[in-house]
Amino acid sequence: MKQYDVAVLGGGLLGRLTAWLLADQGCKVILFNAGKRNGEDAAAFAAAAMLAPTAEAVEATPLVVQLGYASLPIWRQWVDSFPTPVFMQQNGSLIVWHPQDHALAKQFSQHLQRAHQDSSVWQVWHNQEISEHEPQLAGRFQQGLFLPTEGQLDNRQTLLALADVLDRQQVSCHWGRSSDLAECAALAHWTLDCRGYGGKGNWNSHGQSRLRGVRGEVLRLYAPDIELHRPVRVLHPRYPIYIAPKQDKLFVIGATQIESEDDSNLSVRSGLELMSALYTVHPAFGEARILESMAELRPTLNHESPEIRYDTQNRVVTVNGLFRHGFMISPTVSIATVRVLQTLMQQQSLPDAQACYHIDVLPVNQNGEAD
Ligand SMILES: Cc1cc2nc3c(=O)[nH]c(=O)nc-3n(C[C@H](O)[C@H](O)[C@H](O)COP(=O)(O)OP(=O)(O)OC[C@H]3O[C@@H](n4cnc5c(N)ncnc54)[C@H](O)[C@@H]3O)c2cc1C
Repeated sequence: MKQYDVAVLGGGLLGRLTAWLLADQGCKVILFNAGKRNGEDAAAFAAAAMLAPTAEAVEATPLVVQLGYASLPIWRQWVDSFPTPVFMQQNGSLIVWHPQDHALAKQFSQHLQRAHQDSSVWQVWHNQEISEHEPQLAGRFQQGLFLPTEGQLDNRQTLLALADVLDRQQVSCHWGRSSDLAECAALAHWTLDCRGYGGKGNWNSHGQSRLRGVRGEVLRLYAPDIELHRPVRVLHPRYPIYIAPKQDKLFVIGATQIESEDDSNLSVRSGLELMSALYTVHPAFGEARILESMAELRPTLNHESPEIRYDTQNRVVTVNGLFRHGFMISPTVSIATVRVLQTLMQQQSLPDAQACYHIDVLPVNQNGEAD
């Protein structure tokens, strides 16, 4: 006798969000997460949690950008509803560059123009505006690009707030407990696979996995002498960085993007690159204290967009491929996933593309593989 409507396999960012939405709609949910309640081994634990669809449009797919814009107001609403406080800032973000990298800035602006028909999503700031809005950067950069719609969250507060709402809704949460599809199938009518990189083995197509891990390294610093009011990105030909100021003078500095599935500690080279780029933004960062360095793998599909798959025979829905945009797009991805799962549970036809925010919703093929 199955006790649950849905078993959620993997409770990082997407698993927690989707379990919460399902429970909110009256489903009886059980969740297994290999890592601890604080999210420790999830990619989400390392993330800077920038909500940056304008800047990301330079490299991300149009779908991801669209999901990013649609997700921002949803985050605002959700964060305001959490009983546990979560830092969410919507002060825009600032892109700066050193004079010798002017050509990069020109290229970046051209990409922005190509990606956005609406030119109000960025503004050029000169010395005066930079001094006015970010006084500690006064005189350090002649020009910048201000992206007013962007924001950021505190990633770890978000993970904990979600664990709290899951408890409130009586989701049966099993932290620090790996599971698999067979155990979930024995417990629940449907399984929702949100294992991120941990689900790699389930994305085989023609003998190869379509899911890969992309290494990202970050530093967490305490810098009491620095005050920034929004995330700052520095364009650089070899080591572009972002500086995401959180609460209590905590700064997340990131991130490398390396085509490697090695998730061992930060390398000396990456540490040197991140820190030297940081020091050029303000020398007071030289006195910051390094609290933590981390490396995690971003779960990435071959087309670098998210995807939802369903297997009606085994009653499994799988969602993955949030890559470097998990925080930015997870509200819309989790809403679409719940819509798919609910129609399958009710044996109705799948929701239309618009109801799924145009995310690919695909059946697994007759070999049980994702095409
Ligand atoms: C360095 C870095 C910086 C980033 N910065 C940003 C950013 O600024 N903005 C942004 O939007 N995104 C950012 N991201 C991306 C974001 O973190 C990911 O896209 C997001 O975390 C993916 O969510 P997920 O739930 O699919 O996977 P995860 O968050 O990795 O969660 C997967 C969970 O599944 C669990 N699991 C795995 N196998 C099993 C099993 N067998 N049984 C039970 N549980 C299992 C794991 O314990 C884990 O908790 C960044 C990522 C990294 C690494």
